[in-house]
Amino acid sequence: MSDAREPVRALILFGPPGSGKGTQAKLIQDCLRIPHISTGDMLRDRMRHSDDLGEVIRRLVDNGDLVTDELVNQMVDERIGQADCAAGFILDGYPRTLSQAGAICQRLAEQSIAWLVVHLKVDYNVIIRRLAGRRHCLECGAVFNLESNPPKAAGVCDVCGNPLTVREDDREQVVRKRLESYDARTRPLLEFFSAEGSAFYEVDGADAPPPQIAMRICELIRNTNGE
Ligand code: ADP
Repeated sequence: MSDAREPVRALILFGPPGSGKGTQAKLIQDCLRIPHISTGDMLRDRMRHSDDLGEVIRRLVDNGDLVTDELVNQMVDERIGQADCAAGFILDGYPRTLSQAGAICQRLAEQSIAWLVVHLKVDYNVIIRRLAGRRHCLECGAVFNLESNPPKAAGVCDVCGNPLTVREDDREQVVRKRLESYDARTRPLLEFFSAEGSAFYEVDGADAPPPQIAMRICELIRNTNGE
């Protein structure tokens, strides 16, 4: 269990695809001035080294498989030991398995780092609508949204004028599958953190603009720390 006497320094962020988790992590990073640690980003970075380890990671990630617990635990362990994490950090995409959850809790407890878990909740129909409205420009990488950020001319990229496309994994059937798999994968982790007695909050990720939602999460941490 996290030690209530220690100020919360680790934020463990969960949220389904399309919940705006990445956006929240960045906003919270700016607000609390603590680094955002995304294991997905770290692994993609590591994949760029074309050595044996980079290749092993690439094969797993490209297959949609998880990288081994041992490797990810070690990577996170090293990362959170760095100087810029001294005041705190945000974990995004980690832990992803019960074994990772056990490892991080043990590591944080050993270092007297208290943690707080936030599950960003967004109605799945809202997510499906959000993702189905996304339009990508394959030419320059710009992303639009028919509801929140429409292109000036329908179907055409504002930036470079090329046609916009729907990404295969944003199509409704695929999104439903991704959400189901998120649920199956994440439920045991959320149960683990609740049972373990962690400070655990479900935060509505869709009832306000992203900066307001981030503010609420920052407030949760500050309130827990009695600030
Ligand atoms: P997504 O949310 O689409 O899965 P991420 O950027 O979080 O994207 O992760 C990309 C890939 O990196 C995952 O599919 C998985 O192969 C690997 N990965 C990321 N985090 C972990 C983790 N904690 N444990 C194992 N593999 C991970």
